Amino acid sequence: MLETKKSFCRFCHVFCGVEVDVADGRVIAVRGDRDNPVSQGYTCLKGRAEAERLYHPERLLCSLKRDGEQWSDIPSGDALAEIATRLRDIVDRHGPRSVAVYVGDGGHRTSAADPSFVRKWLDGLGSPGLYTSFTVDSPSLSVAINRLFGAPLPLAVFDIANADVAMFVATNPVVSHLMSMPQSNPFARLRSAQQRGMKLIVVDPRRCDVAQRADVHLQVKPGEDASLLAGMIRVILEHELHDRAYADAYLSGLDALREAVRPFDLEYVAARTEVPAEKIREAAILFASARSGAAQSGTGLHMARHQNLTTQLVMTLNALCGRYDRRGGMTRNPGVLTRPLPAEPGPLRMPLFSGEETHVRGIKGIFNWQGLREMPANTLAEAMLTEGPGRIRALIVNGGNPALVFPDSERVTRALQNLDLLVVNDLFLSATARFAHYVLAVKHPFERADVPKLMDVTFPFPFSQYTPALVEAPGDLLEEWEIFWDLARRLGIELDIPGIAMDRKPTADQMLDGMNDGSRIPLDEVRRYPSGHVFGDAETLVGGVVPDMIGHPDRRMAVGHPEVVAELADVRAERVVADGGYDDPGRFAFRMITYRMPEVYCTQGQNMPSLRRKRGYNPILMSPISMRAIGVHDGDDVIVESGHGRVAGIVESSNDLRPGVIGLAHGWGDPLGPADVRERGTNVQRLIPQAEDYDPVTGLAQQSAVAVNVYPSRAAEVPLRAPEHVA
Ligand code: SF4
Repeated sequence: MLETKKSFCRFCHVFCGVEVDVADGRVIAVRGDRDNPVSQGYTCLKGRAEAERLYHPERLLCSLKRDGEQWSDIPSGDALAEIATRLRDIVDRHGPRSVAVYVGDGGHRTSAADPSFVRKWLDGLGSPGLYTSFTVDSPSLSVAINRLFGAPLPLAVFDIANADVAMFVATNPVVSHLMSMPQSNPFARLRSAQQRGMKLIVVDPRRCDVAQRADVHLQVKPGEDASLLAGMIRVILEHELHDRAYADAYLSGLDALREAVRPFDLEYVAARTEVPAEKIREAAILFASARSGAAQSGTGLHMARHQNLTTQLVMTLNALCGRYDRRGGMTRNPGVLTRPLPAEPGPLRMPLFSGEETHVRGIKGIFNWQGLREMPANTLAEAMLTEGPGRIRALIVNGGNPALVFPDSERVTRALQNLDLLVVNDLFLSATARFAHYVLAVKHPFERADVPKLMDVTFPFPFSQYTPALVEAPGDLLEEWEIFWDLARRLGIELDIPGIAMDRKPTADQMLDGMNDGSRIPLDEVRRYPSGHVFGDAETLVGGVVPDMIGHPDRRMAVGHPEVVAELADVRAERVVADGGYDDPGRFAFRMITYRMPEVYCTQGQNMPSLRRKRGYNPILMSPISMRAIGVHDGDDVIVESGHGRVAGIVESSNDLRPGVIGLAHGWGDPLGPADVRERGTNVQRLIPQAEDYDPVTGLAQQSAVAVNVYPSRAAEVPLRAPEHVA
């Protein structure tokens, strides 16, 4: 019998509402749910292909144990007992700090075992070792927020429905579904805003999907965003286009900022960014003259040079133009499953640093975007390899794939192989799971109950939804929370979760209830609406945050923060080089940027047949002019070389890139080295060092705007001199 069930997709963070056809206990079709107030029937190709993931022939249906090169099936109860024994032994010999958990994107989307749950598990054990994907690509957000506001502000939603201008910097929300956009059906939201008259500015080295719709596209040279943004700010201040009343009331350090951007005249900025001065001026005036709007940054910026500075300069544009806590700007969704703010909220007392420090490079732990104490993921591999009191000897990977997404894959694989215990919770034998001692097979999202907690305050209005499990899980499969709860029980750890005891296994619903205790709307109320429900007005809130929740003692946004001023001076002092390199002219001809592929979500989807048919690897995008310059054609094999490593890849022409720039998506390839790139793709992380070119505050490696050379794989050696890009 065919039955249609309401649920939401959890392939990515957007949580689009879906209708799922189930016949004889099997999912046979997935489509958008038109009754869902947020997504209104929208799905993308990945969500519609979820049944392929659910019934994939390589999906793990029982847990595995590795002995040398041999894998054998193991009942999940036996695996958990053995893992607990080994954890106990490691803790007894080396202390709780030797145990860490990495939560990847998949782990963020299991609400009963999300990073806040894992934080509680680690707190019970006594370890600071929570690492998440946030510090893989965006810790600059924490730094910039702390510098500018002195505390996190609950203004997570860009009110694009009421904006007169939108500016996207190094983000392509049409594909990435930027969390603050708001994210579902981004193309339709943009189109309707533009039809209403909203102007769109895009800063991106690639003429990406959103840039193709832009009124002004600033095709900046990769890695030069700091100069571009400083130049825009200078224009705005020079012409007094900023919101003077807002600035007088809520900003500090305006004179210091004015002085710091003074050296970024448009002649200099144009030479450095390769964007015409007139276009920069036009964008600055357009952004500042609009009555409402906001600028948003994405991972393309957060992973490139000077990321703390550039992230803050994007926020500074919003601050100067009075866009925080204003209709059409950055606004507040009070959330549904989030705890309510007090009636008269003050600043959240949350410094940048958590008080913990790694024993490598002296990089400190931070409070992440969810307010959790987190250690910097870009130091994790070193922390596994480096002797000392903080050496990580046991790692649990919850829904992540560090072997493919951490910089310097070679070192990461060495580190994973160096562990006394590696446990991976996954649907598949992923690139990381291959190095594990145990792989715990987990349930597919359609086999478990859930709520969209991750997006609770970034939906376009206060919305939530509950889904029960849609189909029964086959085989001996676990939910992620069951793994941690069972290990806690065996290790004698108490979990500080309301209603959760350690002598009686809870149900999934009891765990969801405990994790959402004290929510603004009780979870039982959310459970009443199969397609989800809007709990309040269908819009975000403005007012009451600025200045009340600003954390600086003067309750002002520090646009002239001394660290920003100092970093702007550093940028201005850099040598301007004409080619693709940085301070070594002539050595590198290209700068490599990242881009996102609509067929995959990080490393997920690469093995799904219908998605692979569209693109089964990550091509190296390059302008036809550059291709002619190095003598390659579409589909040719090429070698990409950085100062750190070299990888093989397949070139694909793209008129969306300028000469001297290549695009390569992250998360593909084989961590162990060369593989059939047409089958597995190119592992970009082999080009990126972890501990050479990194941010001193967060430890984040520079993973975009990387200086590289590209040459035909038939060439015997790297050309001594980079080719010139001539038309
Ligand atoms: S955007 Fe696509 S993958 Fe993400 S939740 Fe929606 S349908 Fe699923």
